Amino acid sequence: MASTATKMNVRDIVSSQIFETIEALIEQGNQTKWHRPWAVDSKIGAPYNLGTNRPYSRSNFLILQMQLMLKSYEHNAWLTFKQVQQFGGHVRKGEKGTPIVYFKKTKDEKDDPDTGEAVTETKSLLRYYVVFNFAQVDGLNIAPTEQEKPTVKFATVEELEQMVRNTGANIERITQDRAYYNPTMDKIVLPLLEQFQGSDGYYATLFHELSHWTGHASRLNRGLNFSLRKKPSQYAYEELIAELASVFLSQDLGYQTAELFQNSAVYLLHYYELLKENRTAFLSASWAAGKAADYLFRFR
Ligand SMILES: [Zn+2]
Repeated sequence: MASTATKMNVRDIVSSQIFETIEALIEQGNQTKWHRPWAVDSKIGAPYNLGTNRPYSRSNFLILQMQLMLKSYEHNAWLTFKQVQQFGGHVRKGEKGTPIVYFKKTKDEKDDPDTGEAVTETKSLLRYYVVFNFAQVDGLNIAPTEQEKPTVKFATVEELEQMVRNTGANIERITQDRAYYNPTMDKIVLPLLEQFQGSDGYYATLFHELSHWTGHASRLNRGLNFSLRKKPSQYAYEELIAELASVFLSQDLGYQTAELFQNSAVYLLHYYELLKENRTAFLSASWAAGKAADYLFRFR
């Protein structure tokens, strides 16, 4: 069910779905909901396609994870409409699918204005398709299995430490209760390891700050500077990017726990005001966060 809508429409369609989900999650208001298992050690792993067993990542990971939280699904297994039919099932009446995104590469033949020669341009167009959770479908001849457990090989603490060293980032660890990245000095300041409740919390914080570090002019150049503090929405946007990048990395590297995700979710909802002003912020922040996470992941 790929859409033929224009790029702008896709962005709007998917963004308003994300927005509605976040609003609904806030409305649910029940903090215990945030304890919904999302951790590597839980039975419910990351979202994956039931037909192909392939995990969803980045933006789609977030979109589906939020749906799972909202609807309290027992399986993080998803199918396209076509797959539902393919596996002999049907979507239960009244069930709505969740739009997720992908980039479709298209080639354009154009004449070079200077030389008059034909050149091929590759473009990435944003598209979306709809998926359904296993719980929204009846009559399937396949079911989720042990596959739900993540198949990624997670990093050990030594590997995480090596990765952090490989970045070459200037990290100062001092006894205080604040973690931050100073873009002018290009320096991360962290509390001491023993001040954290656990190593997972420590790495979540460290990778959040390292994600800010990727935005420096010499790296991904996200235009970080102190004036951001005077522009709350831009500052909030950068915070959203850093937190999402930290969530992505936690998924890639496996230092996430259910409690940590609860923290991240609360943190992300903190930027609800920003989302209200700009409905597409979440989606575009998740792309920027994906770039930041990929940048850091290369140091592994
Ligand atoms: Zn931050």
